[in-house]
Amino acid sequence: MQKVLISGASVAGPVLAYWLDRYGFEVTVVERTPAVRHGLGGHAIDLFGAAVDVIDRMGLGEAVYEARTRSDQLTLYRDGKRPITVDLARFNAGISRRHVEILRGELTRLLYDATRERVEYVFGDSIATLDDDGSGVDVTFERGEPRRFDLVIGADGMHSAVRRLAFGPEESMRRPLGGYLAVYSMPDELELGSRTLLHMKVGRIATTYGVHQTGQARACFLFHRAGELRYDHRDIEQQKRILADEYSDYGWEVPRLLKHLDAADDFYFDSITQITLDSWQRGLVGLVGDAGYCPGPAVGGGTSLAVITAYVLAGELAAARSDIRSGLRNYERKIRSLVELSRSIGPTVVRTIIPGDKVAFGAVPLAFRVLPHLPTWLQRQIWSANNLGKAFRSTPLPDYTDLVRS
Ligand SMILES: Cc1cc2nc3c(=O)[nH]c(=O)nc-3n(C[C@H](O)[C@H](O)[C@H](O)COP(=O)(O)OP(=O)(O)OC[C@H]3O[C@@H](n4cnc5c(N)ncnc54)[C@H](O)[C@@H]3O)c2cc1C
Repeated sequence: MQKVLISGASVAGPVLAYWLDRYGFEVTVVERTPAVRHGLGGHAIDLFGAAVDVIDRMGLGEAVYEARTRSDQLTLYRDGKRPITVDLARFNAGISRRHVEILRGELTRLLYDATRERVEYVFGDSIATLDDDGSGVDVTFERGEPRRFDLVIGADGMHSAVRRLAFGPEESMRRPLGGYLAVYSMPDELELGSRTLLHMKVGRIATTYGVHQTGQARACFLFHRAGELRYDHRDIEQQKRILADEYSDYGWEVPRLLKHLDAADDFYFDSITQITLDSWQRGLVGLVGDAGYCPGPAVGGGTSLAVITAYVLAGELAAARSDIRSGLRNYERKIRSLVELSRSIGPTVVRTIIPGDKVAFGAVPLAFRVLPHLPTWLQRQIWSANNLGKAFRSTPLPDYTDLVRS
């Protein structure tokens, strides 16, 4: 039986593990965090179209739908203007069930539960070195004993260790889109329940939403920056200071949100950056999800991309069986256009969600006012015209059913 090592147990990793196991591979997943990062921390992510279909094929469709976020009202605030409220429940119902918003930790929990019995998970460890001799890969770990695998896949996110070891330093493949993103949990002082409040200024956004599962709220900040900020992506305290400085003069409810910054233990901060590699395989090492082609957190449908591409990777490896390299090549060929599309959309999305000038800023409230009042069929048309939604909806999912062994 071919042995595959996957680095990373978030979204792409467990989806890949699930399907490889079904196709008869022996799978080990190594995850840096001491336990699975499940639960209700983290951020809300989207599953669109074909990604929902993959989840359905895994038998998790109902569970994921049940675990969805329940944001049903969004209020937009701007200084000196009347707030505008949108009824999201009505809007979402008009669109489709083939779009589910769920907390990343909830999705990971469901994926982990679906695989834990049959896949070996090793938590609290990380790959230290990889030595591909052409017929297998010798792997050493930061903690565990060295082992040998037929194939190693990096599903370890934007700052992937597998990518660094096999493809080179991150600096050479980063494409910053000029935005920064911060998210953390806090008490629901504003009694938001299922409401989202979003305040906008030119180049800066502050938003907070209730998390119905925990009774807590989440604070989220997005801001524009032309040049790159210099910081250590492991130094949380430094990142908290950057955020506090950026929003020190903001006003609105921001002082209330920032009051909880010091205590936040799930603080996330990163630049909205793409990973732009042209190839996702080096011999017997491959990449999947954000590790290979992060389209930018929150702007390019990274989660849907991770789910779909992990499914395709497993299927192509199974179809090619002992010829791992040709399986990796076929995977690359099949996903390339979707990856390129999600990459091409990020810059526009960043400009739209963080309007950098007064013209773009002025257009947002208009869209907010008009959209919910359009007839459902027209809302659908507008949604379908969105390239990303369209791409994920129309992506043909290959059928690998014949390859399933268990
Ligand atoms: C704040 C925020 C908001 C977002 N909003 C959206 C959204 O609205 N819609 C959307 O589609 N996407 C969104 N995304 C992007 C989405 O989270 C990612 O695209 C998706 O999670 C990619 O999954 P992945 O499994 O490839 O990588 P990740 O989810 O990044 O997971 C990587 C995993 O690898 C582990 N790991 C890291 N290093 C190592 C190592 N050295 N060894 C072992 N394990 C390691 C990590 O702990 C993690 O578990 C958002 C992201 C962020 C950060």
